[in-house]
Amino acid sequence: MRYYSLNRQSETVDFRAAAVAGQAPDGGLYFPESIPRLPTGFVAELPRLSPADIALTMLRPYVGDTIPAAELAGICAETVNFPLPVVPVTDRISALELFHGPTLAFKDVGARFMSRCLGYFSRHETRPVTVLVATSGDTGGAVASGFLGVPGVEVVILYPQGRVSPVQEQQLTARGQNIRALEVRGNFDDCQRLVKQAFRDDALRQRRRLTSANSINVARWLPQQVYYAVALSQWPHPAPPVVAVPSGNFGNLCAGLLAYASGLPVAHFVAACNQNDAVPRYLTSGRYAARPAVPTLSNAMDVGDPSNFGRILELFGHQYPVLRELLSGYTVSDADTTATIARVFRETGYVLEPHGAVAYFGLADYLRQHPEQRGIFLETAHPVKFPAAVEAATGQPVPVPAELADLMRQPKQSTLLEPEYDALRAYLWE
Ligand SMILES: *Cc1c(COP(=O)(O)O)cnc(C)c1O
Repeated sequence: MRYYSLNRQSETVDFRAAAVAGQAPDGGLYFPESIPRLPTGFVAELPRLSPADIALTMLRPYVGDTIPAAELAGICAETVNFPLPVVPVTDRISALELFHGPTLAFKDVGARFMSRCLGYFSRHETRPVTVLVATSGDTGGAVASGFLGVPGVEVVILYPQGRVSPVQEQQLTARGQNIRALEVRGNFDDCQRLVKQAFRDDALRQRRRLTSANSINVARWLPQQVYYAVALSQWPHPAPPVVAVPSGNFGNLCAGLLAYASGLPVAHFVAACNQNDAVPRYLTSGRYAARPAVPTLSNAMDVGDPSNFGRILELFGHQYPVLRELLSGYTVSDADTTATIARVFRETGYVLEPHGAVAYFGLADYLRQHPEQRGIFLETAHPVKFPAAVEAATGQPVPVPAELADLMRQPKQSTLLEPEYDALRAYLWE
C-alpha cells in the first residue's frame, strides 16, 4: 500500500515512512492510494473471530510488507488486548464501550498500535527517538501509556496548565521512566503551536530525532477501524446498526467510514458534535467553515477545524450528496449533554460521560425519526475521566476503578514551561 498526501505536493510513501513522518513534507495528511475490500465471507464470519484476528485481517493490507506477518499479528493482539463490549442501554440503543484500555479512553487503541509500530521501526536505529506530542487531555495519556518502557523512545508531552482533569493529569505526569511532561502556562493551542514549531526547527531535528504522535498519523488513524468490526461481531440483530460517533478531530468517525467503504455493513452514521460543529454545519449547508474552538463539557471534542475532515471528503470523492445520505450531523449543547447524562442514569442506571452523552443524544434523535432502526453509540471514555460533569448530572460520585487508584497515589512530576518556543527549544536541546 502506498500513501499520498492530500496536498498532492509530496511523493507517495509506504506505511513505514508515513507512520514515522506523521505528516507529509507538504503539510498534508497521508491517505491510502486504494481502499482494500474486506475478504469475502469476513462479515459473516465475524462472530467467530477474535478481536486480534479481526485487527490483523483489516490492517494487514495497509501495513503491507513493512512489518513481517508474525510481528504484525503480535502488535494487533496487543492493540486490542482489553474488552470492547457492546452493552445494551435501552431496547434500541447500545454502547460500544471503548474505555477498558489502560488509560480509560478509546485513544488507547490507536496509541497502542502506533507505539508498537514505531517501536518496531526504530528497533535497529542507534539514536533514540523523541516522540513530541501536544495534548488537550486524553491523547497524551494514551501515548504515554503506549510508549511506557519502550527502549530507544523518549516521550515529551506538552499539556495546558489547569485545563486537564485530575485523572488525566496523573496519566501524563506520574508515569516516570521514559515519559516527561511539560506543563505549559497557556492553552492547548499554545501547546500545539510549540510542537509544530519544533518540527520546523531543522537544527533541533538534527540534534534529536523527533517523531510526532498526533492523531493524523496513519498508524493511529487506521487501527480505529477495528472496533467497528468488533462491535458488529457482537451485534445480535439481522439489520445493521446506525452508529453514532462523538467527534472532535474526526479521526474516529473517519476510520468508521473507511471500514464501511471496505464493506463493513452500517445502516447510517451520526456525527455528534458539541458547539464546535463545523462538520454538522457542512452536512446541512454543503459549505465548510472552520471557526475558533469554544470550550465545552466534552472538551476532547473542542476542535474548530477538524484535521480529518479532508480525509472524509477524499473518501467520498468530494461528493456532498453521497456523504449527506450516509451521515447525519448533530450539534449538542452542554445543557442537553448534562440533561442526557441525568435522564439516561435515571431511566436505565447507565452512567454516560459527556462525550458519550453527545453521541447518545444524536443517536436517540435519529432513531426517533427512524423507528424501524437500532443503533450503537461509541462511549469513548470512562466517566471517571470527567467526574465533575458526571457527578453534577447524576448526583452520584464516580467510583475510581481499582486500576487507577494506584496511579492516583503516585507523585506528579512535571516541568513548568512558559508558552514560548525558546523555552521548549532549550528544554529539548539538553
Ligand atoms: C479524542 C476524543 C474524542 C474525539 O475523537 P476524534 O477522533 O478527535 O473525533 C471523543 N471522545 C473522547 C473521550 C476523546 O478523548
